[in-house]
Amino acid sequence: MKCSLCGRRAVIRIGYAGVHLCEEHFSSYFERRFLEATRLLRMFERGERVAVAVSGGKDSLTLLYLMSKHADALGVEVVAVLVDEGIRGYREEKARAAEAYAKEWGVELVVKSFREELGFTLDEAVSALMEDGLRYKPCTVCGVFRRYLLNRAALELGAGKLATAHNLDDEAQAFLMNALQANLPSIAREGPRSERVHEKLVPRVKPFYFIPEKEVLTYALLHGIESPPVECPYIVYSLRHPLRRWLNEVAERDPSVKHRVIALKNALAPLLDRGGPFRSCRVCGMPSSGEVCKACQLRQYIERILASR
Ligand code: SF4
Repeated sequence: MKCSLCGRRAVIRIGYAGVHLCEEHFSSYFERRFLEATRLLRMFERGERVAVAVSGGKDSLTLLYLMSKHADALGVEVVAVLVDEGIRGYREEKARAAEAYAKEWGVELVVKSFREELGFTLDEAVSALMEDGLRYKPCTVCGVFRRYLLNRAALELGAGKLATAHNLDDEAQAFLMNALQANLPSIAREGPRSERVHEKLVPRVKPFYFIPEKEVLTYALLHGIESPPVECPYIVYSLRHPLRRWLNEVAERDPSVKHRVIALKNALAPLLDRGGPFRSCRVCGMPSSGEVCKACQLRQYIERILASR
């Protein structure tokens, strides 16, 4: 296939736009979309510090690469934050990749670990949860604590924004999961940028919100951004896993389906109750929709099981 713009060898087909692009035209198209999203949605303010959440996967490494490359143009200072959940055989490898790239790109990397911050690893929490009938799935526990620690790290670093690498596929999957679980406040709240609704909640931005995963991965490949090919052992427990496969199958026949899912979500969100308002958790003082935040509730529950062993 040839590039629709210059006739050179194409590296990707952008199905929803009906074009093929060569390496050079795709890279400039991708970076333009990244920069446009940050500007049109006013994701950053000049002079602010931005904490970029990195996991060591290709999406977050690509975000870190672009944020560091365009930090001067965006007028921001970039710092990377990695949460080490303590998932043996998985997180150490991803963390090593994040550390190496952060060093190469001259970005400070701050690591927060479940072990140091909570007193147990995710592996230990999951084995405790299994003894108690797995009332909470590993990804639920992981997600609650990871969001909590990322926010706390961003606060401690004085960051004005916390940037995450959620892409269009992630957002379409999250919408479907929330819809299937009738989690309307999450549908209402999750968007490309959030507001500061609590003094201790650092607003989140998602510069890849409108960019499909395939394009992020292609960009990473073209720019030599690699991630160890290890998969989290807990992915099999997640509803996201089958939904991802299903959505990709549908997109094979209908390339714009993910965009339409997001368009539906963006049309619905303003009509739904966002929940809240946020208050301060009675235990830790961090933002919470109830008297005690989800992280403290889960932590107390896991600590009880671990103590009863
Ligand atoms: Fe955490 Fe689930 Fe992702 Fe594993 S798959 S890192 S448990 S959210």
